[in-house]
Amino acid sequence: MQRPTHPGTASWRTGQPWAPRLRRMSTDDAFADVLAANSAYAACYQLAELEARAAKGLGVLTCMDSRIDPLALLGLDPGDAKILRNAGARVTDDVLRTLVLASYLLGVERIMVVAHTSCRMAGGTEEDVHAAIRAAGGPDTRSISFLTTDDQKSALRADVQRVRSWPYLGNVTVGGFLYDLSTGRLCRVC
Ligand SMILES: [Zn+2]
Repeated sequence: MQRPTHPGTASWRTGQPWAPRLRRMSTDDAFADVLAANSAYAACYQLAELEARAAKGLGVLTCMDSRIDPLALLGLDPGDAKILRNAGARVTDDVLRTLVLASYLLGVERIMVVAHTSCRMAGGTEEDVHAAIRAAGGPDTRSISFLTTDDQKSALRADVQRVRSWPYLGNVTVGGFLYDLSTGRLCRVC
């Protein structure tokens, strides 16, 4: 069955329709499925003894893209790494703030910045994103910078360098990587 589409919600890059927006539900309805799942999870919960420090000394910044499973793709378990996510895996002030805490208080000694193929934040312009949000019924967002880039690897190198040169971070090793969503393979960029 073809999924319903709404006028004015086509993606600016692929021409594919955005996922239909969920009907506004009551708070109970909106979270019922995940709360039920959590009940089952809590019944078998075994992570109470985990320490807050990253067991593998690893910090990972990656995109919020739901196709990325950071623990699985790096062979990690809960407790192994600090995971930071945002749109485009970009190094922002808040990422740097978090990395200072991760480094000095939470055992992080090495940091991976992981961009990915087919990222909506790479390839389109800021204007494209503003227009797409307007077309989806959203407000005028031109006062927001979404940190899009048309040169993903250059942006990744610049972001990695920003972490490396951040004076509040001392003994950390930083690498930039590109994750291929079509193969699951990770390539080192810098
Ligand atoms: Zn992305």
